[in-house]
Amino acid sequence: SPLVSDKSINSFENDTNLIFLRSNENPYGPSPLARKAFTENVNISNRYNWDIEAKIISAIALKNSVKDENILLGAGSTEILDLVAKFVSLEKGNYVIADPSYDYWTVTLDNLGLTKNRVPLTTDKKINLQAMLEAVNQNTKLVYICNPNNPTGTICEREALIEFVTTIQQNTIILIDEAYLEFTKQQSLSNLVNDHKNIIIVKTFSKIYGLAGARIGYAIANKTIIDNLANLQSNTNNSVSVLSKLAAIASLKDDKFVSNCYLLNENVKQYTISELKKLNCECVSSNTNFIYFSLAKYNKDYFKQLEDNKIQGGRIYEEQGKWTRITIGKLSEMEKFIKAIQ
Ligand code: PLP
Repeated sequence: SPLVSDKSINSFENDTNLIFLRSNENPYGPSPLARKAFTENVNISNRYNWDIEAKIISAIALKNSVKDENILLGAGSTEILDLVAKFVSLEKGNYVIADPSYDYWTVTLDNLGLTKNRVPLTTDKKINLQAMLEAVNQNTKLVYICNPNNPTGTICEREALIEFVTTIQQNTIILIDEAYLEFTKQQSLSNLVNDHKNIIIVKTFSKIYGLAGARIGYAIANKTIIDNLANLQSNTNNSVSVLSKLAAIASLKDDKFVSNCYLLNENVKQYTISELKKLNCECVSSNTNFIYFSLAKYNKDYFKQLEDNKIQGGRIYEEQGKWTRITIGKLSEMEKFIKAIQ
C-alpha cells in the first residue's frame, strides 16, 4: 500500500497537550473541503436556510443509492439511536444486543421499560449471529448489530448478515450501526431497506469524515419507518446546524481525504498492533480505527502510564482477560502511546 504522509492532509495539531485516544475520532479531520465549507458559509448562519436541508438529504441519498424519503438526519447518530429507542419502546418487550458492544444509547431503552438481552461474543470476539438469532423471540422489539463492532473492531461478513436479517421476522426492528464501515472495504446494507421494512441503518459523519464535534448523522430505512422516527423528532431533519450540513455535503465530495484517512489508519494500525504484541498484549484483528487488546499479560499499571503521559485511552470492557480499547491516532501520537506503556 502506498504510504500516505499525514502532512498531505494538513491537519492542525491539538494544542491541549493531551492525546485523545478514547473516542475513536478522526485525528486528521475535518477534511479540507469541509473546513472550507465552514469558513465560507459562516455569514449565512443568521438564516434558517431551509433549502440546505433538502440538499444534504439528496447528497446522502445519492451516496447510499437510496431515495430522499429513506433518509432522516440527526445531531450525530446518537440522536437517531435515541429516536429508534423511543420508537421501539412504544410497545413493551425485549431487545437483543451483543456483549460487549456499543451500548451507551441503550439507557433510553432500559428507562422506557424494555428488557435487555445480552448475547456474549464468540471466543474470537466476533458478534455471534447464531446466538443472537436464538435470543430473538416473539417479544423482541429490536436487535442491534454494530458492524464493525465497537469496542472489538470485528466485522460480520456481509453474506452472513444478509442471511441473519432475512431470517428475523418483520415485526422485530433490526438496527445496523455502520459508524465504522468506511474503515473497511465492505458495502453498506442500505440497499436492503426497501425490501426489508424492519431494517434501520445508522451512519455518522463523526468517524472517517472527521466531524464528531459538528454533530451530524443519519438513518436509512424504508419510508414508513423514517416517517415514524420523524414523528418522534421535534425538529424533523433540522436539529443539525446549517454549517454542519454544508460541511457534511463537502465531506461527501472529498474522496481523497477519505481514502488518505483510510490508508493512514491502516498503516498506523499495523505499527500499533506490532508494538502492542511486543508488550505481550494480545490484539484482536481490527476493521476499524481502534484496537481491542488484552492487558492480561501486561506487567505494568497501564492506566497510570496513560495518566502520567496525558493520554486519554479506553476503559476495561471485559474483566476476564482485561480487554481494553485504544483509538488509532496519528503515527506521532501512537509512538508516544507505545513509549508511555513500554
Ligand atoms: N455508534 C457507534 C458504534 C459509535 O462508536 C459512536 C460513537 O463513538 C456512535 C454511534 C455515536 O456517534 P455520533 O453521535 O457522534 O454520530
